[in-house]
Amino acid sequence: MNLPKTVTICEVGPRDGFQPEKSIIATTAKADIINRVAASGVPVIEIGAFVHPKAVPQMADTDEVARKVAKYPGAQYRALVSNRKGVERAIACGMNWVKLTHSASESHNLSNFNQPIASSVKGFEECLELAKTHGITASAAISVAFGCPFEGKIPLANLEVHIRRLTGYGIREISLSDTTGMGNPVQVYSIASHMVQTFPEVKWILHMHDTRGMALPNILAAMEAGISSFDASFAGLGGCPYAPGASGNIATEDLVHMLHEMGVNTGIDLDLAIENARLAKAIVGHETDSRILKAGKIADLILKKPCGQTKIG
Ligand code: ZN
Repeated sequence: MNLPKTVTICEVGPRDGFQPEKSIIATTAKADIINRVAASGVPVIEIGAFVHPKAVPQMADTDEVARKVAKYPGAQYRALVSNRKGVERAIACGMNWVKLTHSASESHNLSNFNQPIASSVKGFEECLELAKTHGITASAAISVAFGCPFEGKIPLANLEVHIRRLTGYGIREISLSDTTGMGNPVQVYSIASHMVQTFPEVKWILHMHDTRGMALPNILAAMEAGISSFDASFAGLGGCPYAPGASGNIATEDLVHMLHEMGVNTGIDLDLAIENARLAKAIVGHETDSRILKAGKIADLILKKPCGQTKIG
């Protein structure tokens, strides 16, 4: 297999994972788990979102979280922004990386951002200008890139139009999101290969939700296509407003476990990642979709006595 030697993981649990939680999580708990994630060796952490507090109440304290987080050497902290106000908030609390997002389909953009794509990207222009004058790097994410719950598969030509617009703005890091878990490995390989070849100047990140259990195979397919950066969420937290009960992003510990088993380096201490996933699960107070939290590591099994020594069956 054509696998990268090293994969970069961005922990999106503090944003994507906590975002749909109904009970507001204490700011100190958010800052604490972000510090632990950084200490486990995760190189990139999405700490929250500078969006309207009424739209996403759980993210209302992102400014305070940003100020509380101990900036761990070597870790890069970023936050999602939706407009100029978001960039202003990022500047005010000392963030140096923001992520702009729009959807690949008009219906999802209208549903998620209450405006057509044209208005979203028009807003990006002033965000980018403001970010640039303050030395803030801006990356972008395209939601529902592998399928929209309202419009189905997104034509490749449409995706390319969005990407050309973003690269035209000078954006050099783009995340393609499988927001509702509609991608399959063959499709992901095809789109990822095309994008890597067509836009070699872009650093690609894939953001795969595990809604239908295809996140790991999709990530594997993307690695084969030459992508080596992936978002993941501790304990597999997150969800989808269009599919109640649907899984969140791929669990960080599940992804790190698979990569390490395959000999792919992440720089992350898996045991610490598992501890962080347990903590995240305790913070939200409900069951999650993490396979490793349920089954443990393969390495742990090998150290134990065979099942047959104690019980048959
Ligand atoms: Zn997501």
